[in-house]
Amino acid sequence: MIKVCKFGGTAMAQAESIKRVADIVVADDTRIGIVLSAPGKRHEYDTKVTDLLYRAFAEPRVWNDIRERFVDIIVGLDIDFDIDKEFNQIFLDINNGINSHYIVSRGEYLIGKIFAKYIGFEFVDAKEIIMLDHNGNIDLVATRRQSKVLLNQYMHYLSSNISSSNLSKHKGFVLPGFYGACNNQICLLGRGGSDISGAILSNILTAKVYENWTDVDGFFAFDPRFGNSNLNATISYRQAIDLSQFGATVLHPDSCVVASIDETPIIIKNTFAPTNCGTKVVKHNYCKKSKLVGVGGIKFNKILQVTKPDNIGHPLSRDLLWALHKSDIEVNNLVVNDNNAYLHLTNNTSTKDINIFKKALKNINSNYVVASRKLSLIKLVGRDIVDKALSILRLRDIKVVYSMVAQDSTLLGVYTKDFDKSIKVLYSSFA
Ligand code: ASP
Repeated sequence: MIKVCKFGGTAMAQAESIKRVADIVVADDTRIGIVLSAPGKRHEYDTKVTDLLYRAFAEPRVWNDIRERFVDIIVGLDIDFDIDKEFNQIFLDINNGINSHYIVSRGEYLIGKIFAKYIGFEFVDAKEIIMLDHNGNIDLVATRRQSKVLLNQYMHYLSSNISSSNLSKHKGFVLPGFYGACNNQICLLGRGGSDISGAILSNILTAKVYENWTDVDGFFAFDPRFGNSNLNATISYRQAIDLSQFGATVLHPDSCVVASIDETPIIIKNTFAPTNCGTKVVKHNYCKKSKLVGVGGIKFNKILQVTKPDNIGHPLSRDLLWALHKSDIEVNNLVVNDNNAYLHLTNNTSTKDINIFKKALKNINSNYVVASRKLSLIKLVGRDIVDKALSILRLRDIKVVYSMVAQDSTLLGVYTKDFDKSIKVLYSSFA
């Protein structure tokens, strides 16, 4: 049996927490594939190494801070690691015009090498394994093809007699998260992308379990900042995606998409409280009826309300699809309720795009009314909870502008001024 473990940036932030990570890995000899994030924040006011790397483009002096972060870790772990050799290579590559993704990926690359050295595992560069297409999407077919040779090599290494280190009795390998390659060039998976790397590695290795070690216990029904909230022992991939898209920062939603391909269970665990239960993310969450799994929300300000005031011509949804096709508007979410539609626009949408969209609609039917609204969204995840939620909000005089009920979740639109109050009253009634 193989387990893949991904450790987040807080755990990799400093030598002391990295030692905890090593303890967790060596405690179970099925923990073979280890995926790491770059060192994150050591305290509230600290900066993540990835953010320092982004800044280093404009402020070259930041390279000293980045080097210091790694020197502190190497000294704290008491290992023999030539950090200057690594930095010289990075500067050489930069002088030779290497792409920006390469630079930002160096946090994961360096911590991967350092941790591999510390624990006595092999380092495998994600550039050799994780393949992306020209649009930056994961190419699982190419990744599987590419990884076969390398993984065979490492499987051979795993079954060989070469001892790894005093620290670990078993062997494994370390893969830096957050990046892969496209045409032999480093390509990033996007912020929080190491979760996706872990899911990809689990898929390639047909791992029994993907353990995602983070700095919280798992998925709570409410953001724990609102107060004590219930931890979900189990949730479904779909529910985890919904909650992640509506504010939960536990897991990257795309990691659930990848894990669901082979139905690999994801277990969220807290590196700083490893004996706590955690949350298991699986295909189905056979929960009792009327159970609230979670509440999330997004404060939106770019919402377009489209109203069709008459019954003339095509249905609203058909006209909308046509107008969207004619314009460059990017829509995150679309809710159609009778003769009203609400389009949640991405921040990339410009006024020019909106005007093209309006014009396209008016060309079909000049009576269309398109208005910008300041609405926020609340996502309630769980079954048979919508009636209770709506009556709680009604009793507090909170107007629900629209609702869209799906099998496992409900989306509510409220005025942005009512957003915080809505979450609070829902919390006090459901928690
Ligand atoms: N280090 C990257 C970030 O800060 C990737 C990750 O942690 O998953 O977004």
